[in-house]
Amino acid sequence: MEPAKEPRGAEPGAAEAAGGQRQTHGFQAEVRELLKLMIHSLYSHREIFLRELISNASDACDRLRFAAIGNSALLGEDAELGIRIDADPTAGTVTITDNGIGMTREEAITNLGTIARSGTAEFFRGLSGDEQKASQLIGQFGVGFYSAFIVAERVEVRSRKAGEPPTAGVRWESAADGDFTVESVTLPARGTAVTLHLKADAREFADPFRLRGLIRRYSDHIGFPVRMRKEGEASLEYEVVNQAKALWTLPRTEITDEEYRQFYQYVAHDFTDPLAWSHNKVEGKREYISLLYVPGRAPFDLWQREGARGLKLYVRRVFIMDDAEQFLPLYLRFIKGVVDSSDLPLNVSRELLQQDAEVEAIRSGLTKRVLDLLARLAREEPDKYAVFWKEFGAALKEGIAQDHANQPALLPLLRFASTFNNEDTPTVSLADYLTRMKPGQERIYYVIAESVAAARGSPAIERLRERGIEVLLLADRIDEWVMGHVESYEGKRFKDATRGELELGGLESDADRKQHDAELKESKGLLKRMKDALGERVSEVRVSERLKESPAVLVLGEHDLSEQMRRILAAAGQKAPESKPVLEVNVAHPLVKYLEERPETGEFAELAQLLYDQAALAEGTPLANPPEYVQRLNRLLVRLAAPQAAT
Ligand code: ADP
Ligand code: MG
Repeated sequence: MEPAKEPRGAEPGAAEAAGGQRQTHGFQAEVRELLKLMIHSLYSHREIFLRELISNASDACDRLRFAAIGNSALLGEDAELGIRIDADPTAGTVTITDNGIGMTREEAITNLGTIARSGTAEFFRGLSGDEQKASQLIGQFGVGFYSAFIVAERVEVRSRKAGEPPTAGVRWESAADGDFTVESVTLPARGTAVTLHLKADAREFADPFRLRGLIRRYSDHIGFPVRMRKEGEASLEYEVVNQAKALWTLPRTEITDEEYRQFYQYVAHDFTDPLAWSHNKVEGKREYISLLYVPGRAPFDLWQREGARGLKLYVRRVFIMDDAEQFLPLYLRFIKGVVDSSDLPLNVSRELLQQDAEVEAIRSGLTKRVLDLLARLAREEPDKYAVFWKEFGAALKEGIAQDHANQPALLPLLRFASTFNNEDTPTVSLADYLTRMKPGQERIYYVIAESVAAARGSPAIERLRERGIEVLLLADRIDEWVMGHVESYEGKRFKDATRGELELGGLESDADRKQHDAELKESKGLLKRMKDALGERVSEVRVSERLKESPAVLVLGEHDLSEQMRRILAAAGQKAPESKPVLEVNVAHPLVKYLEERPETGEFAELAQLLYDQAALAEGTPLANPPEYVQRLNRLLVRLAAPQAAT
C-alpha cells in the first residue's frame, strides 16, 4: 500500500517539489488510524465538524487576544477578531476563516499532522466500534481538526501567523490518504482559513441555510462574531449570525435552558445534554462568574491520571487557559464549565494558580456550588441523580476521604445498595437508612465485599437481617478507603458488620443477653478444642451473635486490614502487617453440635478445619490450599455415603 513514511509529521518526507518548497509529510501513525475512523465509520452526528472547526477558530482568536495583551502590535489594523464562514454550494466547499493567531509552517506541520495529547491508545480502545461514542470522544479528546475529514474528501488550510510578513504564509493540504503537503505561500491577511471540499454525500453542508442553523445550534455563544454572507443573490455583505456574546456574562434571566444546553455542548465538546448546571456571579470583595455543568456521561478518561479535567479560565472575559484544574478538587474533576475572574492578573500561569490565595478562595466557593447543585438534583430530580450516581458516584466518594471539611455536604449525596431492597444498583441514601432504623439501634451497619451479591450473602449479617436491621452493601474498590474516613452521620456511628463486636446496644434485650451468656458457658470446652485444632490460623474462636443459617464466620479486628485490602497491597508488592481473624461459631447450628460430639480424634480437627475454610470461602478469600479442602470435604462425603466403610 503506501510507502513507509516518517512516523512524525514534523520530519520532511520523500517528495519535494519546487515553488514554495512543497513538501509531502506522512501523518503520525495514530493520526492515520484516526482518519480511517473518521472516513469509514462515522455517519451519525457528522455536523460536529463545524463545531470543532469554529471552536479552533475561536481558540485562535482567544490566543491572539491574549498574546496582544503584551504586544498590541500583533493586532495591527485588524483589531476586531472574528470568524467568517463561506459556502459554495456549486463547488461543494465550505471555508472557515479566522483572523486569530495563525500558524507558521512548522506549527502547521506539527499541529495538523500529529496528536499532541497523551493517551491516544486509550482513545482508540475506548471506541470499540461504537459510532455514537466515537463521535463524542473525538471532541473530548482534542482531535477536533481531523473531524473535517468526516465530511470532506480534501481539506486545505491557509495560515499566516500573527506578527509575520505576508510571505510567511503556509498552505497545508490533505486528502487523508496517509500524507499531507505543505508549501510556503504569500497570504495578504493574518489568521487561518480552512477549506473543506465536501464528499458527494455531504454536500448538504454547503447549504448556507443549513450552516446558519448549525452555527446557531453549536456556536451561538462563543465570544466572537461568526459572519456569513447576507442572504440573497450575489450579496457581498456579511452579517453576524450568532449571538457572539460570552454566555456566562449575561444575566441568568436572559438565558434560556436551550442556550445553556448548547453552551455546554460547546465547552464540553459533547453532543448529549448536561444533567444540571449552576450559573453564578459573585460580587464584592472578590468578583468572579462561574458556569458549572454536571455532564450526563463520564468521559473516557475519568479514571486516567492524565485525564483532562478542570474549567475554562477567563480573566475579565479574556480566555486564559483550558483545563484549569486548580478551581475544583480532584473528586469533582468531571465538572465542566467556565470560571471568569475579575481579580486574577491576565498573565497568570498554571504555576501561579497553584499557590494563589485568590484561587483557593474561588475553589472553595465553587466546590460548595457543585455540592449544592448535586443536593438540589438529588432532591428535585432523583432519576437524573441516579444517572449522575452511576456515572460519577465512585469519583464523588473520593471526596469523603479527601475533603473532610465538606463531608457533611457529601454524606447525604452517597447512595448505597442495601439489604432493604433487592436492587444491586445503589439507591439508598443515609437519610433513608435513618428513617428505617429500629428502636434502640445506634449504628449504621455496612458490609464491604467484592460484589454487592457477595456482600448481601455475607454470613456476618444473618442475624441483623433476621431482626430486620438494614445493612448497607458496598462493593467499590475504594469503599474500604472511603469508609475508613467517616465516623458518623447525624450522630449515628458507622459500623462494619464484619469486624469486632456488632455493638447491638439497645437492640439486645435482657433475654438475648442471658441466652448469649448461657451459650458462652456451655461452649467453653468446644471453643478451646477448636482453637487447639486450628492453631495459629485464628486469634480466637468465640460464640457468634451474627450468625443464623451459617455454622461459622471469620471476623476481623476493628482496625485489621481486610482480605481485599491485603490483596491490593500484595499486588502492589507491599507487605501487609500480620493479623489473624477471629472464628465465630454458631453454637445452635447442627453441624457445630455434631462437631461438639466428636471425640478428640482426627475427625474433630478435620471438621473444624472444614468450617474454617468455608468461612474463608464465604467472605471471598481464596483458600491457601484448595486441593486439601476438596480432599477433606470428600472424605466427609464418603463417610456420609458409606458410613460403615469409614473407620
Ligand atoms: P485542539 O483544538 O484540542 O488542540 P484540534 O485537533 O482541534 O485539537 O487542533 C489541533 C491544533 O491545531 C490546535 O491545538 C492548534 O494548535 C492548531 N489549529 C487548529 N485550527 C487552528 C486555527 N484556526 N488557527 C490556529 N491554529 C489552529
Ligand atoms: Mg480543537
